[in-house]
Amino acid sequence: MDKRVAIICIGNEILAGKTIDTNSVYISRKFAGTNYKVVFKAQIGDSADEIRNTLNFALKMADIVFTTGGLGPTFDDITKKTIADYFGLKLILDENLLGKTKAFFQRMGVGMPESNISQAFIPEGAEYFENPLGTAPAIKIGNKEKTVFLLPGVPREMETLLEYILRSLEIGKENIKTIRIFGMPESVIQEKLDNYIGREKIYMALLPSYRGVDIRFYGGGKRIEKLINKIRDMFGDNIYGEGDILIEEVVGRILRKKKFTLSIAESCTGGLVSHLITNVSGSSDYFIGSITAYHNGVKMNVLSVNEHSLKEDGAVSEVVAREMAIGVKNALHTDIGISTTGIAGPTGGTKEKPVGLVWMAVADKKKVNVEYKVFSGEREDIKFKSSIYLLNMLRKFLEVKE
Ligand code: ATP
Ligand code: MG
Repeated sequence: MDKRVAIICIGNEILAGKTIDTNSVYISRKFAGTNYKVVFKAQIGDSADEIRNTLNFALKMADIVFTTGGLGPTFDDITKKTIADYFGLKLILDENLLGKTKAFFQRMGVGMPESNISQAFIPEGAEYFENPLGTAPAIKIGNKEKTVFLLPGVPREMETLLEYILRSLEIGKENIKTIRIFGMPESVIQEKLDNYIGREKIYMALLPSYRGVDIRFYGGGKRIEKLINKIRDMFGDNIYGEGDILIEEVVGRILRKKKFTLSIAESCTGGLVSHLITNVSGSSDYFIGSITAYHNGVKMNVLSVNEHSLKEDGAVSEVVAREMAIGVKNALHTDIGISTTGIAGPTGGTKEKPVGLVWMAVADKKKVNVEYKVFSGEREDIKFKSSIYLLNMLRKFLEVKE
């Protein structure tokens, strides 16, 4: 059955603009494509009045309400007390939780501050989910019709506890299937899916980001299995992975499997491609090193890019991207070399070479693939988009190469 969800983010610092509310976005995205629909969101201050009024409204709108923030031990953290009062529940000390909280501080080598005792108090009859990363547990208050989940404000803690809750609602990772697509606009994907699925009712969502578009399905069974197989055929090479795997992990796996080594020459991305590659644990198995060749002198002296190429075609050009990829591969003695050179803006663009133009190359000892794209956005967007694009080029290069 379909359920309605409300999200209330509590914290003065959110209203003051000091903290950007990413928690509600994170929670919303988790429900996309499931039988839970987010129908209401609010950002409010650490005030009992605001909490009561908003909760009142949220409970009218939704079956399940999530709050984040204000579960800490300090005087301004009033979420738990206010919501317990709202439901007429006493706060009762949970000895098990108190023990865990003390142990948490012991592991850090300090005694538990007096104020943290408050975190071991739970509204009577409420369930809780222990927090492996901190001292504020998530709390579940409610009955069959209406449920309120209280989550801490710190994003990493919130995310971990949310995962436990989603599992208890049977929309944990086990029930969600995700197909990750790169290089195809959301509208095209939507159209292809609509044509195939027709009017059949299915829990599905498209989630676009700079990393591509995720098609997410909720539920299992033969019908979804069949649909997923069809989608694998339909989108073929555009699918770079399934589940929550990242493109940098995908290329890492292929490189390791093929026993290939990688080096990177970066101009406009300034080291970001190397950063992404080294975010993957175990990347030292295949990643040898990189050269951030920002100045033309480095391109020539370290990467052996021809002075002639730089003069004739300019640093942002097909030939320079090609020579950079080959150059870094030779300089660092790797199987594969990849490169970026582009104009990240906001200055430096011309009519022929606009801001956002990036040339990217992948080379091994026999072959070089070079492509260009004109990416949109701010400087950092262009750096990120081109880095992901290059990693996907590398994936395709490796997948065809036997
Ligand atoms: P703590 O035990 O740290 O006090 P808490 O549950 O009381 O946790 P808050 O004090 O409200 O949570 O927030 C802690 C930190 O979490 C904030 O400083 C902020 O950086 C971050 N945070 C809070 N709410 C949000 C939100 N909606 N989106 C993103 N970050 C948030
Ligand atoms: Mg706090």
